[in-house]
Amino acid sequence: MRVVIIGGVAGGMSAAARLRRLDAKAEIIVLERSGNVSYANCGLPYYVGGLIQNEESLLLQTPQSLHKRFRLDVRVNTEVVEINTSKKEITAVDHGKNSQFSLSYDKLILSPGAAPVRPNIPGIERALSLRTVEDVKAMAQIMSTNPKSAVIIGGGFIGLELAENLVHKRIPTAVIEATEQVMAPLDSEMVSFVHNEIRKHEVDLRLGSAVAQVKADSVVLANGDEIPADVVVAAIGVKPETTLAINAGLKIGPRGGIAVDEYNLTSNPDIYAVGDATEKHDALDNSATLIPLANIANRHGRVVADHICGKKIRTVASQATAIVKIFDLTVATTGWNEKKAKAAGLDYVVVHSHPSHHAGYYPGAQGMSIKIIVDKRTQEILGAQAVGREGVDKRIDVIATAMRGGLTAPELADLELAYAPPYGSAKDPVNMLGYISENVLNGVTPTVQWSEVNSLVSQGWTVVDVRSKGEFDRGHIPNSINISIDEIRERINEVPKEKILVTCQVGQRGHAATRLLREMGYNA
Ligand code: FAD
Repeated sequence: MRVVIIGGVAGGMSAAARLRRLDAKAEIIVLERSGNVSYANCGLPYYVGGLIQNEESLLLQTPQSLHKRFRLDVRVNTEVVEINTSKKEITAVDHGKNSQFSLSYDKLILSPGAAPVRPNIPGIERALSLRTVEDVKAMAQIMSTNPKSAVIIGGGFIGLELAENLVHKRIPTAVIEATEQVMAPLDSEMVSFVHNEIRKHEVDLRLGSAVAQVKADSVVLANGDEIPADVVVAAIGVKPETTLAINAGLKIGPRGGIAVDEYNLTSNPDIYAVGDATEKHDALDNSATLIPLANIANRHGRVVADHICGKKIRTVASQATAIVKIFDLTVATTGWNEKKAKAAGLDYVVVHSHPSHHAGYYPGAQGMSIKIIVDKRTQEILGAQAVGREGVDKRIDVIATAMRGGLTAPELADLELAYAPPYGSAKDPVNMLGYISENVLNGVTPTVQWSEVNSLVSQGWTVVDVRSKGEFDRGHIPNSINISIDEIRERINEVPKEKILVTCQVGQRGHAATRLLREMGYNA
């Protein structure tokens, strides 16, 4: 059996190595357009910043090492230009030898990835993209000329990782984002921490700003502002590489990626597709979705190898768990955000929590903010987001695992998680989300969201801030009254009987005060 694989990085190389481990005899040929295979594209921004110093560290394998260990026939600088499905043959150009050749296949695996989106802006040709080792070398070359300014177009995770690395190199950097927020997977109240962090590190963050022109040494915005830019990077997202698939007549899905079934088989029975080029199946509603992330590309590469070798496989839907470091913050998400739940018309509740990452009395405790979105009817966890300095990765991974295992939000309270003061709390932040969601879902402590407060106040609700006077004096919601939780019993006459919104700092005192008021017959 001859298996030809197009694209020799995450998905393609996972498929190749797994295939070899399952079938010692198969002829496995990997064709890769760039000069490298199995390179660490996720590490590229850190090479730009100098945190990763050796280019070799990014190159996890070479064609030689892959041949030695796995007897893979890996050909770099080799671009597939056509797939002939009736002849079961591909045509490729060997850029090294400047020659063209054809190759038949029994099974073909497409893992050509995604291409950076290049906006149609005058002068954009000067903007760099970051996708391959060649791209990062071009960037490193410009870095060696001591640039004095940089503009990154796009506030997605690659743009922000690059911004951090350019600041690390002490290059004054601006990030231009067309929408009102960076990091689209986050909801707006969660992303506000990220905006603060970026600005704290003196990045000139322009939200809701369009780039009108890229000039020789600057970038001009639609509002006329001109920002110096020795370096310009376009990081406004990626689109699936589908040209080969389209020309071969393979079905393209509604989101513009190669359509595949649960075994990653395309509309052609001998052609599989994995990774950023394909559409994934959303773990919540099975809808087609694009998730250009490494975990799922690797996982699907393995699924395909197993399927080719006739192994029984579990199908793998995607919940888009992701994490990114933005300066001193960690931002992680899994599943749907509130925007998506709202757009889908779901009846949901939202729970926010602001715990410490480990016991508060143990030195070094850092606060974090976690949000989960829960289906009101089924209590299913629809998604989670967390932002903080420490411990964010662990909480999102636990929640992602709980979602995969089908736990409801209140069942997060039942997880027995590892605890000692340096690592967590006896009631871990994840357990707390379980407790809170149980209280919210069964009406023990009803909540309203931050975005509802203004409208409720205009309908006659009173905001009662139950923090201490000192905290209140340092800043509070306009028109709120301050009765600290410890004084509520004595000052109960000052509290209106109806329509009370209780607020505090992180929700804990607010919850206790709300319970007290409700027990006393107040509508809090
Ligand atoms: P790729 O790994 O991109 O491989 C596709 C390969 O196919 C490319 O090398 C390309 O040259 C080759 N190719 C394309 N067309 C042809 C052709 N016609 N013939 C031959 N070869 C072809 N994901 C995360 O989960 N976490 C991260 O932190 C993260 N950081 C990232 C940082 C950067 C800078 C980048 C660029 C990506 C990052 N990703 C991250 C995304 C992750 O790298 C991708 O999701 C993953 O690599 C996708 O795997 P793939 O096999 O589909 O495509």
